[in-house]
Amino acid sequence: MAKNNLSSDVVVIGAGPAGLMAAIALASAGVETLLIGATPATTDHRTTALLTSSVAALEALGVWERCRDKAAPLKIMRIADDRPVLLRAPEVAFEAAEIGHEAFGYNIENRTLVAALSAHAATLSALKHLERNARELTISETDGTITLDDGAQIIARLIIAADGRNSLCRSAAGIAVRTHRYPQTALALTFDHTRPHRDTSVEFHTEAGPFTLVPLPGQRSSLVWVTTPTEAEAVTALDDTALAWQVEQRSHAILGKVSMLPGRGRFPLTLQTAERFAARRVALVGEAAHVMPPIGAQGLNLGLRDAAAIAELVVDAQRDGTDPGAPHVMDDYNASRRADIVTRSVAVDALNRSLLTAFLPVQGVRGVGLALLDRIGPLRRAVMREGIAPGAHTPRLMRGEALQS
Ligand SMILES: Cc1cc2nc3c(=O)[nH]c(=O)nc-3n(C[C@H](O)[C@H](O)[C@H](O)COP(=O)(O)OP(=O)(O)OC[C@H]3O[C@@H](n4cnc5c(N)ncnc54)[C@H](O)[C@@H]3O)c2cc1C
Repeated sequence: MAKNNLSSDVVVIGAGPAGLMAAIALASAGVETLLIGATPATTDHRTTALLTSSVAALEALGVWERCRDKAAPLKIMRIADDRPVLLRAPEVAFEAAEIGHEAFGYNIENRTLVAALSAHAATLSALKHLERNARELTISETDGTITLDDGAQIIARLIIAADGRNSLCRSAAGIAVRTHRYPQTALALTFDHTRPHRDTSVEFHTEAGPFTLVPLPGQRSSLVWVTTPTEAEAVTALDDTALAWQVEQRSHAILGKVSMLPGRGRFPLTLQTAERFAARRVALVGEAAHVMPPIGAQGLNLGLRDAAAIAELVVDAQRDGTDPGAPHVMDDYNASRRADIVTRSVAVDALNRSLLTAFLPVQGVRGVGLALLDRIGPLRRAVMREGIAPGAHTPRLMRGEALQS
């Protein structure tokens, strides 16, 4: 072994929010963990609506207290049909209080969340962070060898791949993905406004996709504007005044006068799902495992559940004295994540397609569905609970229980 080589039972590759969460969950439970990846740049202008189970996990890890004052509660969610179609759906409002919750979740800027996770990671003695990129991963039956961009090599028994949608680790493990690209682009913007948002998120369903306003602390909101690639390009080229006017028009001025805040993100809409979530000592978390359109706030919430699930299995393996990258651990992880990931991906895809279709029966079914939700309390409450519930095989951390090895 060359002198700059290291070995670690568990290595997490990718220091985005999913990777940081996995590394923190492991190290907090006493598992010696090596995190590889540069701290993400602060140019991510997205926000994340963290569902209550994600907040419970961050709370249990001691991360939430570092960022809770920079997050806004989502107490009411309104869906309004804004399409010029024959069978327009009625407006539906969901209130968290109706199912006994203070909020459905909390909206936070990604860079604020990542800063809180990074600051917390730096306090954990069992966590070592190498601000390097992985260049290559080779896998044998007993371990994986990661070559860094400076040539150093690291040997690990388990590699947690949190290296995003073009995951190098996923390719090295031979895991294929199914990818669908929609004819849509999401714009991520933030702005100040003159009327209060009243902790309410509003989703206008337009012909090109949802236009979703989500509260931030104070009189600030984030916007995810899903539209055609051509319109997204044109909108991105507008100056702040012209863009603010467009946002006011499209939001029917419900937030009053708008002033844009710096930063505009543009994301082609993609649905991508790995065919397996673990194989050959590599467990996929976050966008390495699944990418989905930003509809219904599912992407990172699923990513945090992936992180919590693999951490739980590794902590159990360490307690039992077994190999954390053994085939049965990979199989258990794959089985525990499949239903959650596949059902959310299918639901987000179906919702997006139902907005894009000009097919009258589909518009009708959607309208009837929303009308039923509007009128039938128990059905509405069941849908609300399902929307925020973490689903089958809920990892302990997502129930707010700290992991102990
Ligand atoms: C407009 C928009 C709005 C969204 N809103 C929500 C929402 O409200 N709620 C929600 O739950 N989700 C939301 N999402 C989804 C969410 O933003 C993503 O799921 C999340 O950011 C992905 O995090 P990640 O850690 O998996 O991946 P990434 O953030 O992509 O992190 C991957 C990291 O790995 C690093 N990396 C890559 N290759 C290597 C390598 N070889 N070596 C080392 N490091 C490497 C990268 O540099 C990066 O830092 C939204 C997405 C969009 C586009």
